[in-house]
Amino acid sequence: MSHPQTHFAQTRFHGPSVLRDRRRTFARVGVKAQLKQLRATGRYDCFDLRWQPVYDEHRVKWPAPAPVFWDSDVAKWLEGACYLLHDAYDPEVDAAVRHVAGLIRGAQHPDGYLNVYFSVVKPGERWTNIRDQHELYNAGHLIEAALAHSRYYKTDFLLRVVERYVRHIRTVIGPGPGQKHAYPGHPEIELALLRLHAATGSEDAYALARYFVEERGNPRGQDGLHFYDWERRQRGDSPWKRPDAYPTADDHWYNQCHAPILEQPTVEGHAVRAMYLLTGVADLLCLDKLGVRAYHDDEDNSNRNDGECRAVTTATTTKAKKDRYFEALTRLWDDMVDKKMYLTGGIGACWGWEGFGRDYFLPAGSDEGGCYNETCASIGVVLLAERLLHLDLDARYADVLELCLYNNVLTGASLDGTAFTYVNQLASSDDQPSRREDWFEVSCCPPNLMRLFGCLGGYLWDYGAGDGNSSGEEDGGSSANAAFVNVHLYTTAVVTFEVGGGEGQGGQTVALEQKSDWPWDGNVSFHLKAPSSVETTIRLRIPGWAKGDYTLSPSPSSTTTTTPTTTTLEKGYLTLPPSYTAAHPSFTLRVGGFAPRHVAPHPYTGQRTLALARGPLVYCAEDADNPWAPPHFRDVLVSAASPVAEEARALRLRVDAARWDCSGKTGDAAVREPGQVEAEVEVEDRYVALRTEAWVRDMSAWRAKRAGAGPGLSVSEGGDGDGVVDGEKKELVLIPYYLRANRGGKGHMRVGLLRK
Ligand SMILES: [Zn+2]
Repeated sequence: MSHPQTHFAQTRFHGPSVLRDRRRTFARVGVKAQLKQLRATGRYDCFDLRWQPVYDEHRVKWPAPAPVFWDSDVAKWLEGACYLLHDAYDPEVDAAVRHVAGLIRGAQHPDGYLNVYFSVVKPGERWTNIRDQHELYNAGHLIEAALAHSRYYKTDFLLRVVERYVRHIRTVIGPGPGQKHAYPGHPEIELALLRLHAATGSEDAYALARYFVEERGNPRGQDGLHFYDWERRQRGDSPWKRPDAYPTADDHWYNQCHAPILEQPTVEGHAVRAMYLLTGVADLLCLDKLGVRAYHDDEDNSNRNDGECRAVTTATTTKAKKDRYFEALTRLWDDMVDKKMYLTGGIGACWGWEGFGRDYFLPAGSDEGGCYNETCASIGVVLLAERLLHLDLDARYADVLELCLYNNVLTGASLDGTAFTYVNQLASSDDQPSRREDWFEVSCCPPNLMRLFGCLGGYLWDYGAGDGNSSGEEDGGSSANAAFVNVHLYTTAVVTFEVGGGEGQGGQTVALEQKSDWPWDGNVSFHLKAPSSVETTIRLRIPGWAKGDYTLSPSPSSTTTTTPTTTTLEKGYLTLPPSYTAAHPSFTLRVGGFAPRHVAPHPYTGQRTLALARGPLVYCAEDADNPWAPPHFRDVLVSAASPVAEEARALRLRVDAARWDCSGKTGDAAVREPGQVEAEVEVEDRYVALRTEAWVRDMSAWRAKRAGAGPGLSVSEGGDGDGVVDGEKKELVLIPYYLRANRGGKGHMRVGLLRK
């Protein structure tokens, strides 16, 4: 079963690329910068279960004081560190991982329970607020950390710990009498449990994940009440007491349980939660599709006491439940991408609940009334899209995956890997300049970036035995004479895997190398190494923005075999059959679409703006290049008719890596010899800047308007009404959005500029 988190080590980034360089920066600098923050804030040692003064500061915050998430911060760092250690060993990181893993193991209660906050700060309140207090969310990240730890260290040291914890959770939560019919307020554990099941075969993990998915949103889950309403009554909370993020009490859409998942017409609520939840649902179907674990419709949590609800559901549909889950996934995906996603792949227009707003409500920044676009939310889209590609090989998922990765995700870290954004707006304002921070009180995003980049190789492609069409193709066992690689992302990398060969027998090695200067150029050269006995099918994604402009060389018609070769393009993937790959183990794909293009948001956003894009990248203007521009580029106009020129540039930074070295300072054994510290790390990003012409909106009529005398201005007074005149032309320079906030300046930035 292919999860990127387990297969990434079969991919090597063997040449320069934006992805390789960023991943390397996390390995050389970012992992230690975050370790230093974990140490400085008390997180690093929190699993020792000693009281920390910081707990007092947060004690009265309700419902989720910051230390409630600490387990997950530490777990995500540990997970990411294990991925990075695979090909960039560092003794300090290794020692820190071992230290933390020991603490985690030592923090487990005799009954299997494992959570810092409810062991130290609120020991009597376990499982009393599953809606808000993240016990299950933390458990999910501990499971993912244990899986990464187990693969790197080849030990079940942490795996046994989380398996015990899962067994404990299953005694507390489930369909039986006397159990809580609960599911996590912040989904995440679902996808973690399914990965645990795929790795170890744990039945507890599978049953629990499936229960969480199917029980979610049951209106009469416990004693005839929605579980969260029941839980609130158990706590004795007033119905009028609600967390700040909940616009209204008890409507449950904030955490996607306002209705069973199958019945949700639109994607709602907290964006990260929604993405993690849907990734879990998709993975449940993936296990079925890939032959790991069949999803039987009759396995319906028979003890659940929601007979009335289930009867309604069964009566209204005759389709297999797994088909209806897939329909729900695509329905919610379409709703999100078409009506609730920014041009940068950001999701979550509303600050209040860090989530989705009304259809087409996509303000560019705070002074327009919104734009949150949490880094983690787009990481969630990447996770979801990767699972969906297993279920339905359609380039639209990979296009959005790439859009998010290169824009809203990549912009979440500075070029030197030590500073981060949580919120990724499309326009700065005085309240929210375009800047990064070293760390956050709720610090989910930095370690999330690190773990995504740590296992990034796993997102480039799917591959395995068989032709990639039949179910169970990735079982890696039976088919000795066929292999497939579906290439989703282009960069410079090589994947090596084996097909055929039963257990304990050697298989046949297949290696596919790709080389390119992506995302700057669309020429990708491939080289396949496979024994002649292995028939290899390769599918290449043709991005939607290429508008059908691509060429494959040599062309299929030049194939000199007895059987004619034809390539087929289906749902954005160009299939090269074994007859082609056997005749041409080296071939080149040229993808068009790298000329700069203007992109407009949907008209219903009410925004008459244009952004510039090139290949998968969306661009922004920054004051560092455009000192003439008015504040935040709010009055800058561009025209789709203007020529756009390209300029090759490079941004170089010298990072003081020694600043992040903290070996031997916190009681760990000294792990470095003197002189081992890499004092300075140079990072460089080559990029293509864009130049075009721009105009500044003339606001003089509005400035001359008598203050307080009434809203609006008649057209005759204001020139052409918008206050727009053809004034002096300026030269506007734009850089990739992901590179913003790396060069100082005032933090003025904008993606979508007024359309002339
Ligand atoms: Zn986050």
